[in-house]
Amino acid sequence: MYFVEVAIKVPLPRTFDYKVDSQLGEASAPLKPGMRVLVPFGNQRKVAVVLALKTTTEVPENKIKAIFEIIDDTPILSAEHIELLRFTARYYCYPLGETIHIALPSALRQGESPDKTSINMVALTEKGALLPSLKAKTQLNLLKQLSQSGKSSLTELKALGFSKKTIDSLIDKALITQSIEHDNHWQSVAPTVGSKPTLNKEQAVACTTINQSSGFSSFLLEGVTGSGKTEVYLQCLEEVLKRGEQALVLVPEIGLTPQTVNRFRRRFPDTPIMLWHSALTDNERLQTWRFCEKASCAIVIGTRSSIFLPFLKLGMIVVDEEHDSSFKQQDTLRYHARDLAAYRAYQHKIPLILGSATPALETLHKAINNKYQLLSLTERAQTATDNQFKLLDMKGQPDQAGIAHASLATMRQHLKRGKQVMVFLNRRGFSPTLICHECGWLSECKRCSTSATFHKAIGQMICHHCGEQYHVPHQCPDCGSTQIFPNGKGTEQIEEFLSSEFPQTPVTRIDRDSTRRKGSLEKALDEINLGGARILVGTQMLAKGHHFADVSLVVILDVDSGLYSCDFRATEHLAQLVTQVAGRAGRSGEAGQVLLQTHFPEHPLLQDLVNNGYQDFARFALREREDADLPPITNMAIVRAQGHNIKQVVDFLTDLVPVSGVTGIQLLGPIPAPLEKVAGMYRFQLHIQAQDRRVLHQYLAQMVDYLSTSKLAQKVRWSLDVDPIDM
Ligand code: ADP
Ligand code: ZN
Ligand code: ZN
Repeated sequence: MYFVEVAIKVPLPRTFDYKVDSQLGEASAPLKPGMRVLVPFGNQRKVAVVLALKTTTEVPENKIKAIFEIIDDTPILSAEHIELLRFTARYYCYPLGETIHIALPSALRQGESPDKTSINMVALTEKGALLPSLKAKTQLNLLKQLSQSGKSSLTELKALGFSKKTIDSLIDKALITQSIEHDNHWQSVAPTVGSKPTLNKEQAVACTTINQSSGFSSFLLEGVTGSGKTEVYLQCLEEVLKRGEQALVLVPEIGLTPQTVNRFRRRFPDTPIMLWHSALTDNERLQTWRFCEKASCAIVIGTRSSIFLPFLKLGMIVVDEEHDSSFKQQDTLRYHARDLAAYRAYQHKIPLILGSATPALETLHKAINNKYQLLSLTERAQTATDNQFKLLDMKGQPDQAGIAHASLATMRQHLKRGKQVMVFLNRRGFSPTLICHECGWLSECKRCSTSATFHKAIGQMICHHCGEQYHVPHQCPDCGSTQIFPNGKGTEQIEEFLSSEFPQTPVTRIDRDSTRRKGSLEKALDEINLGGARILVGTQMLAKGHHFADVSLVVILDVDSGLYSCDFRATEHLAQLVTQVAGRAGRSGEAGQVLLQTHFPEHPLLQDLVNNGYQDFARFALREREDADLPPITNMAIVRAQGHNIKQVVDFLTDLVPVSGVTGIQLLGPIPAPLEKVAGMYRFQLHIQAQDRRVLHQYLAQMVDYLSTSKLAQKVRWSLDVDPIDM
């Protein structure tokens, strides 16, 4: 008889010991760390992952229970992978069992076999390769796609927006065939490499530096949109593939950037590339997991959680748009995929490339302190001239729907020249509130300390924080007046106004409302790229990664809300957003124009950003953080708590503040959250800061221990956020 230490998905910061009866041990393969077992827990049977075998235990003999069954013949998690998950759990102060649960595909969580590893591939038949003319445009597009990318997986085609129906009709016509792939021995042959440009000098320096690095090294590839960062990733990956090693490419959102996926496919047409994102089925997740683990897959392009995929021979990690907030999980295990990427690269002793036009201050700070090597691309690869920024003073400017007449005039000029114009406002809906003209009543959400947004098209008031829907009132609930009007602007209103102002010009709106239906985003993007849409209105969804060849003017309507905010990161996020949105202009050949509407044109941040660019702004902002002792100069964690009883919430947090301060730790709070009430619950928080990361972690570890015994903790909902990216 011997013992095993296992991790089980329970909300407790500890692991559990079980005994293994000798006959069980002999009946199956020898037990090893990383295998799953079935154990009794309370009166349930649970899947557990073995962390270690041991000959002794501290659990008394009459208390220790025996495992029921060994599930696996071989470990599903390597020692290295368990170490990654242990690090993650420790760093983010989250129970190890739950961390492992989050990392595993659901089939593996449930104890299923990992060996369902076939993959559906689709390729052109000889008849299909002739690209016969077809009436259905999507079918023809699919044929064209396959003729450029070669054999592709079903998952990939779905991610590119092709439906099962389109694929099936082409199979019926014998223009494409489907096959099942169980494995792929791509390492044994040199990769085919599609046509590629000759690197410019800065790109070549970046590539050589990365390729010649040995062991673990991190690079920040800083370069404006269009400066050829993706080209650098591609040429570095080529070397990785030639060595027969795998690569992980993290991207913010796959659905939004089918072009990126296509570029990788065209460059490496026979290389198995798999995608990982939230729309995969459980089965597709398991396939990708297993293909990575067996090295049957060479490149994974994935969103945040792909950082937990197992790789047999990982050779490089790329994090594209590393500043993007979608890399940080905002609930349960609040990990940052970029930061875990650094740990993984260190673990595997491989290079890590972080690319961005607008690096996060955290990353830039490390680059300035030589923890990361800075590689700069300062020129746009295909455009000689930089975008022209202009601050448009809104004070005393006549406007319609929040668009200055001067902006409208400029739009007209660009449209006349046959160009596309983008109008950006980070607020969806028609107007953020309704107001009563007689008494000043505002439409508020009854459950939150915020307003309910007017959605005119669907005739509803919707709270964007709790999702509650309300009827649109015809009379003021307070004074009975019928004089109720939209107050403030949202994208729906801008779209309505521009459609009437430019009746001959097609207007396309892109935000979460307009793209809710499956396929609608792809359709809108197609329309834009085929030149149909001339005016694009949208939220930050428009800012992400798209290449719109004809956009020559970007108008940013609401700059001011980011200038005066309670979150010290608001200016950083504003500067990133402005730069990213501006990057959509002038992508092919001609310099773009960017108009920023503001009431504060003299604001030093705007001046710096417009005159000297993000690079300069970011370095200035970093010095400000230094003066104020804020992250990334110091390290931070936030304990957030919410509950229906405000006193319990505040008491819970107050109880965490030690009477006699701890050296090296600064505490702030309890303070109300920026939105004090959401969905009927009061929300407060406690900020914890330390110069020294180890001191912070020691403190947090003690606090988590204390919380597992605290009675107050059971009365509220609380969470701990290490390295938060917002308040
Ligand atoms: P980023 O990732 O920085 O936005 P990309 O790699 O997408 O930049 O490059 C922008 C455009 O310039 C792409 O169309 C790309 O094919 C092209 N490009 C990149 N590098 C070169 C180069 N060295 N020579 C010619 N074209 C290039
Ligand atoms: Zn009223
Ligand atoms: Zn609400």
